[in-house]
Amino acid sequence: MSTTPYESPWMNEELTLFRKSVRHFIAEEFVPRQAQWREQHRPDPETWLAIGKAGILLPDIPQKYGGGDGTFAHETVVNEELAYAGVHFGSSIQSIVGHYILSYGTEEQKLRWLPRMGRGELVAAIAMTEPGAGSDLAGVKTSALRDGYHFILNGSKTFITNGWHANLVCVAVKTDPTASGLKGISLVVVETQGLKGYRAGHPFDKVGMNQLDTCELFFDDVRIPVSNLLGVEGNGFSQMVQQLPYERLTIGAVAVASAERAVAITTKYVKERMAFGKALIEFQNTRFKLAQCSTEAYIGRVFLDHCIQRFLVGQCDAVTAARAKYWLTESQCRIIDECVQLHGGYGYMNEYPIARMWTDSRVQRIYAGTNEIMKELIGWAL
Ligand SMILES: Cc1cc2nc3c(=O)[nH]c(=O)nc-3n(C[C@H](O)[C@H](O)[C@H](O)COP(=O)(O)OP(=O)(O)OC[C@H]3O[C@@H](n4cnc5c(N)ncnc54)[C@H](O)[C@@H]3O)c2cc1C
Repeated sequence: MSTTPYESPWMNEELTLFRKSVRHFIAEEFVPRQAQWREQHRPDPETWLAIGKAGILLPDIPQKYGGGDGTFAHETVVNEELAYAGVHFGSSIQSIVGHYILSYGTEEQKLRWLPRMGRGELVAAIAMTEPGAGSDLAGVKTSALRDGYHFILNGSKTFITNGWHANLVCVAVKTDPTASGLKGISLVVVETQGLKGYRAGHPFDKVGMNQLDTCELFFDDVRIPVSNLLGVEGNGFSQMVQQLPYERLTIGAVAVASAERAVAITTKYVKERMAFGKALIEFQNTRFKLAQCSTEAYIGRVFLDHCIQRFLVGQCDAVTAARAKYWLTESQCRIIDECVQLHGGYGYMNEYPIARMWTDSRVQRIYAGTNEIMKELIGWAL
């Protein structure tokens, strides 16, 4: 008895070809370097140029701004393929920042930054979180005060993905420190190359995802032109609220692809591993656990596809994206944890992909708004 293969309804022939080329690039260029990236806590700088040259960066940004001219389906294909290969690379952050610029930037800003981001010459980071402002962005203290035609930035950000490589940082700042709460927050773009007063800390030693550089960023009397303001001054919080569904769906896509990978890896493992004279798959418990995991991954896939289809026609609201981020990442962690158990002691050894997936997946429930904050967003809307 076999199951009918399922294909996401948003896939088509062109996306299948794109998927094939992305898969090939990742297998050739990224997979062999994973151990080194983990060791050094960041990818090699030249990988950004290589992926840019391969035409994989900014897949859903218009061609006239140096992007791939695709849709969110193309972005999803890239994120899924990275997850299927067990690779962590900050290209989704590049896309997220690309969309901030596309949505709020002037024509001059778009032409100044996006083509270089598409080529991988500019590596982007989005810097919201501060030591005293994570879930509660009202705590943002990094200030950007006007001095003629410049802003002077002071403060620090923490846990910033791509932080070590970034030379273009979209920073949430208080342009009006007298405004209370979420008012007075603006987004500014900082080109960091040789910028006086700017510094990135060493990449953090994380429990997982160490192929990605996650850093503190410091701004000490950093001077940037007022023309680097993104959109309307004081609108930063509403801009973030509008853009976060994109980020949360990309996390959902990684969650589903990782869960699918975990089920595939574990199914293979339990067919090979013997105990009590038979393969593990011959124990009813193993089959039941995998039946549960594969069913849950399938449910996740269908829900994700539903969200993607809505997103593609501009109808994925913030609450739906919050549901996707919350449920799909919880499900990812549940499934991977069961798969570790089915590997026995080997599931706890870093040389086994499932062990790394276990530590890598945990943060999915924390970043881009914790899952408790997702539940708050969903609950408030009820
Ligand atoms: C690997 C990694 C990469 C990251 N990348 C980035 C990045 O690129 N850019 C960026 O800006 N940030 C990034 N972050 C930061 C991330 O978004 C924050 O860590 C996250 O939003 C939580 O903030 P916090 O760590 O300050 O936790 P806190 O806000 O202190 O939360 C601690 C706990 O309290 C709970 N809590 C807080 N408020 C409430 C509430 N109202 N109701 C119920 N529970 C609540 C939380 O859910 C959590 O469980 C990254 C973090 C990590 C670990």
